[in-house]
Amino acid sequence: MPKKPKSTQKAIIITGVIAIALVGTVAYLRKVEGGLRNVFSLSYWQDHFSGLEMYRPSVAYFTRGNDEHRDVCFTFDDGPHLKGAPLILDALKKEKIHGTFFVVGIRVREHPELVKRMIDEGNEVGNHTQDHYRLDTLKIQNVKSEVRNCEINVERACGRRTSLLRPPGMRATHDDMLLFKSMGYTTVGWNVGAHDFIPATTGKVTQEMLDDMNTTPAQVAQRVLENVKPGVIILLHDNPVTAAALPTIVENLRKQGYGFKTVSEMLAQLPKPIHIVANPVATDQYAFAKFPPLPVKKPKTVATTPVAPTQVTATKK
Ligand SMILES: [Zn+2]
Repeated sequence: MPKKPKSTQKAIIITGVIAIALVGTVAYLRKVEGGLRNVFSLSYWQDHFSGLEMYRPSVAYFTRGNDEHRDVCFTFDDGPHLKGAPLILDALKKEKIHGTFFVVGIRVREHPELVKRMIDEGNEVGNHTQDHYRLDTLKIQNVKSEVRNCEINVERACGRRTSLLRPPGMRATHDDMLLFKSMGYTTVGWNVGAHDFIPATTGKVTQEMLDDMNTTPAQVAQRVLENVKPGVIILLHDNPVTAAALPTIVENLRKQGYGFKTVSEMLAQLPKPIHIVANPVATDQYAFAKFPPLPVKKPKTVATTPVAPTQVTATKK
């Protein structure tokens, strides 16, 4: 076979590299909020490459705090769990700091008194949907019900509304994000995770999964402390292991000069400050409840809610 001229070889290589880069970029952008639309957004790329993006106004998405302030923010997802939440609340109270709890509606309905305690002790409560489904697998009407039903439960529990929202697994489409904004929510991301939970599963929680998690308070503390930076939002869960890790985390961070802020306090510290009240009093109490909740059809392949270790009866191997 005759050899191809050098210039043709070069052209093939260049075309190949461009094609790979394009496919990679498209695959990446499909995953991030805003999706492929970001290709045409100059501000997206400016923010992306400068690492400065903290808040995206188009969808009211808070990604991280201002790193000019040496503060971090503790968020606790998926509760309130009966065994974990009181311990977390005790630990926060003892340290005289406040956290932000992203609660699941079905658990709020089971333990409304814990949500009331969160609020009464100065913490913030955010919406983490009613059933903890992956919202990007639901129709937009069902996404709306998931958010609204959680809101109804919080309102019934403590007479307060929620202004902060975190979609389960951070899985939401651009249209979902626009919906949250139109419903008055600020969507809250996270930057440091402690893996203090069993990942969502479609099946039973087995002993093997519990072993895999292999989480001790020391490991939870280590995962947080290794990755902490000014302005980070830390993702934790309201389980006893995490509660036991909190004193170590707080002590170490204090030694490093860190302060502790809630989500709304961090929003107020942004270069362009955002001022919100995380849990305004529901003036027209049960206004939300006047509308009958829409039924949410459980998708076939959707993951179930992650379970805190103490909440499960493990199946023996
Ligand atoms: Zn969650």
